Amino acid sequence: MFGQMQDSPLLVSQLIEHAERLYPTKRIITKTVEGDWHIYTYADAAKRSRQLSQALISLGVKQDDVIGTLAWNTFRHFECWYGISGIGAVLHTINPRLFPEQLDYIINHAEDKYLFIDTTFVPLLEALQAKLSHVKGYVIMCDEANMPTTQLPNVLCYETLLSQQDGDFAWPELDERQASSICYTSGTTGNPKGVVYSHRSSLLHSWGITGKDITSLDSQSIMLPIVPMFHANAWGLVYACPMVGAELVFPGPHLDGASVSDMINRFKVDISAAVPTVWTMLLQHLRQSGETLESLNSVLIGGSAVPRSMIQAFDQDYNVEVWQAWGMTEMSPLGSLNRPLPQDSKLSYEEQLNIRSKQGRPCFGVQMKIVDDENHELPHDGKAFGRLLVKGPWIVSQYFKMEKSALEDDGWFDTGDVATIDATGNMQITDRSKDVIKSGGEWISSIDLENAAMGHPDVLEAAVIGVSHPKWEERPLLIIVPKNKNKVPDSEALLHFLADKVAKWWLPNGVEVVDEIPHTATGKINKVGLRETFKDYQFEEAIA
Ligand code: AMP
Repeated sequence: MFGQMQDSPLLVSQLIEHAERLYPTKRIITKTVEGDWHIYTYADAAKRSRQLSQALISLGVKQDDVIGTLAWNTFRHFECWYGISGIGAVLHTINPRLFPEQLDYIINHAEDKYLFIDTTFVPLLEALQAKLSHVKGYVIMCDEANMPTTQLPNVLCYETLLSQQDGDFAWPELDERQASSICYTSGTTGNPKGVVYSHRSSLLHSWGITGKDITSLDSQSIMLPIVPMFHANAWGLVYACPMVGAELVFPGPHLDGASVSDMINRFKVDISAAVPTVWTMLLQHLRQSGETLESLNSVLIGGSAVPRSMIQAFDQDYNVEVWQAWGMTEMSPLGSLNRPLPQDSKLSYEEQLNIRSKQGRPCFGVQMKIVDDENHELPHDGKAFGRLLVKGPWIVSQYFKMEKSALEDDGWFDTGDVATIDATGNMQITDRSKDVIKSGGEWISSIDLENAAMGHPDVLEAAVIGVSHPKWEERPLLIIVPKNKNKVPDSEALLHFLADKVAKWWLPNGVEVVDEIPHTATGKINKVGLRETFKDYQFEEAIA
C-alpha cells in the first residue's frame, strides 16, 4: 500500500516565493564589485529574479540549457540562482580561480549557452572566448554606467536586460528530479568533474542544514556567506537563508580581514561561513587592529581541517563558537557538522577542544561508514581509520556525462577521505587518501601534524607531505610559513613543541620554511604542488 499524500514537486523557485510571501522586508545586503553598498529585500529579489527569467526566455533560453556564472557573492548572482533554475535551465557556477585550461574545459564540457560575469572577470574571458564553442553571449553583471569596453562578442548589460521585463511571470511547475545546477570539482589531477544537483536534492539539503542542531539558521539570523557561490554551492546557504527568512550579507570581492570585520560589525552579522584561510586573515587583522566582533556568535568553517588554535582563538579572544563542517561538492555539500553535545560541558577545556577539532556528526540524511582496504566495516571507536563512505539523497550518483556510476557496487560513495568515527558518531578526517603518509607500513596523519604545528605561536600556516625515505618508505616533511619573517622558529624548537602533541614516531624528519604555501582554487593546501616542489628533497639523516 502506498501513502496517500500529495506528490507535489520540491522546486528551487518555491524558496524565493516563500521568502517573498513570509519575509518580504528581510534584507539582502551586498558590498558591490564597485565598492558601494546595495541593500534591498527578499520581495525585491523575487521580482528581479522573475524579470531575469523573462529575459532569459526572450534570449531563447530553454529548459535544460546550461547558463554559466563567473561571479562573486552579490545580489545579482543571487538572482541568477533563482532566475535561471526557476525556468528549468541549469545554473553552472564556475570557479574563476581554476586554471584557464580547466575553465575552458568545463565551459565547453557543460555546453554553457550564456555566461553571466562580473566586470572583474571580463579580461579572463576575453583571453578564453575564442575557445568557447557553445557560448552565444556574455551578460555583464552591472548597469550601463559601469559597462566596461571589451572585445567580448555579443555583450549584454544585466541591468538593461532586466529593465526590459516587468516581472509579471509565474515559474513553471517542473519535475523535481530535473537538474537545477552544476558545480565542477576542483580536482588537482585530471579534468574537473561535473556534479549535477536536482531541485529535489537542493531542497532536501536546505532542510537538512537549517536544523537547530546544524546551522540553527532562522529569521533572527544575519548570515555572511564568505564561502563563494562558485564553491560547493556556498554550502547551500543561498537556498537555506530564504527558506527560513535569514538576512544575507554578501561580501562581493571584498574578502580581506578589514572588509570582513567591517561587514560583521556594520550589519551585526551573527553567523558567517568560510574556509580556514579567510579566518586566518581575519584573526590576523583583528590582532593588529584591536577590533572586536560583538555581534558574531558562530562561524561555520570547512573545506579544510580547522586548526585547534583557530577554535581556541575565536572562543577565548572573541567569544565566537566555531562549528567545523565537513562536506564535498559531490555532497551538495554538507556531510557533517561539529556542534557541542550537552555532556561535553562537563569535560576539561582541553578535552572539549579535542572533540571540537573533529569534523563532526552527520546530519540527518547522510549515512557514513569507514572501511578497510577489503571493504570490511571498521569499528566506531575513534581509533580505527579507513576510507570514508557516504550515502544519501543529496549525494552524487553519477558525474555529468560519464557513463559509469560514481558509486561502489553496494551503492556507497567513496569520499577519498580517510577518517575515524568515535562512539558518539563524531568523525575525524586524518587525510585525503592520496595524501596519506605511509611510514614502515603504518599511516601518519598529515592533518594532525599540520594542526599541531599551527598551534605554535610563530607559525602562520603549516603543511605536511610524505617524502621518500630509504628505510621507512616515506617520512613526514613539515613546511611552515612564519607569522613574522624576523622571528622564524628553528626546527629543533618546532619538533620540541610537537613532541607532546603527536606520537613520537610521527615527528617530522625535516622542517622547511617558505614564504607561502600554495593553495588550490578552493583554498585547500595544494599538496600536489608541494610534492612537486619538494620532489628531490632529501632528509639530512638520509644524506648523511
Ligand atoms: P570540495 O569538493 O572542494 O568541497 O572538497 C571536498 C574535500 O575537502 C573533502 O573530501 C575533504 O578532503 C576536504 N574537506 C572539506 N571539509 C573539511 C574539513 N572540515 N576538514 C578536513 N577536510 C575537509
